[in-house]
Amino acid sequence: MKSFHTLADLQAWRPLPDDAPGAIRLGVVGDPVAHSLSPSLQNAALAECCLALRYARFRILPNELPAALRCFEELGFVGLNLTVPHKVAGFSLVQELDSFARQAGAINTIRFQDGKLFGANTDGPGFERGIRESFGVELRDLRVLVLGAGGGAGQTVAAQCALAGCPALTLVNRDLAKAQRLARSWEAAHAVAVPWETDSLGEMLAQSDLIVHATPLGLQPHDPSPLPGALLGPRHLVYDLNYQPTALLAAAQAAGARHASGLTMLLHQGAQAFEIWFDRPPPLGVMRRALGL
Ligand code: NAP
Repeated sequence: MKSFHTLADLQAWRPLPDDAPGAIRLGVVGDPVAHSLSPSLQNAALAECCLALRYARFRILPNELPAALRCFEELGFVGLNLTVPHKVAGFSLVQELDSFARQAGAINTIRFQDGKLFGANTDGPGFERGIRESFGVELRDLRVLVLGAGGGAGQTVAAQCALAGCPALTLVNRDLAKAQRLARSWEAAHAVAVPWETDSLGEMLAQSDLIVHATPLGLQPHDPSPLPGALLGPRHLVYDLNYQPTALLAAAQAAGARHASGLTMLLHQGAQAFEIWFDRPPPLGVMRRALGL
């Protein structure tokens, strides 16, 4: 099987009868997308629930997203996950939103229903459950620093932290203006934006418990750590949304910090997406095993 399909593939497909076994009717849409573990997670859940559908990867470029969504709808898809770089753009392309997605300004889940696109954001709750599972602590008790607050995932993590009532929320982004805009929207949660510079990072890290990395740095094997390892210490919790080994996780380990990859978030956001598509509880144990957790 191909590791991903493209817009050209979609445009060449014909709708399948509703009872066609094993038809691809769910998928993850992104660029890059070949690394995504969502097919393992969701296909295990579909098999466990005896649903004769398949979940596949779709490599869709940013300018192709509107056309791709029209194709998915015409082909009778049940739903989708959106990943990098579509979470913010996807927000404006759906007709209905769940309340958290509206506050986060980004979506990662679409359900096609009654001729409409319903957008949801399961990354926020998935992140909070992931932190609980990985570190055995409650997000609301942590002072959080988000690296990469300008992207869909970073915005979502910031929203979840603000709504959970975290005692401090520091937003860091390569393009500082984006972090400043986000901090203004979460002013009531006392969010602050700081430049991505060693001095300001060092000062804010000294006052933070949880460091969340939300940029794609790490998707390529030789990507550098997003911050100097010398700024990390044993009292930090480091959570990298990327779910392969990264330079940041290696730096955290060397510094004696507790650390975890984004696998637990992947699990919980995927479980909630499954529930949205099928209106039934997800088989969490099977999904956890599919990720090797
Ligand atoms: P996105 O919307 O494309 O996010 C881009 C963000 O990363 C922006 O803040 C951008 O900064 C920053 N960035 C990009 N390249 C950078 C670089 N070379 N140096 C510094 N900053 C850089 O992507 P996303 O959807 O938020 O996803 C971000 C990552 O989180 C992806 O790797 C994704 O796989 C992962 N993720 C994992 C899960 C999970 O379940 N574990 C869930 C969601 C996302 P500027 O604003 O300055 O451009």
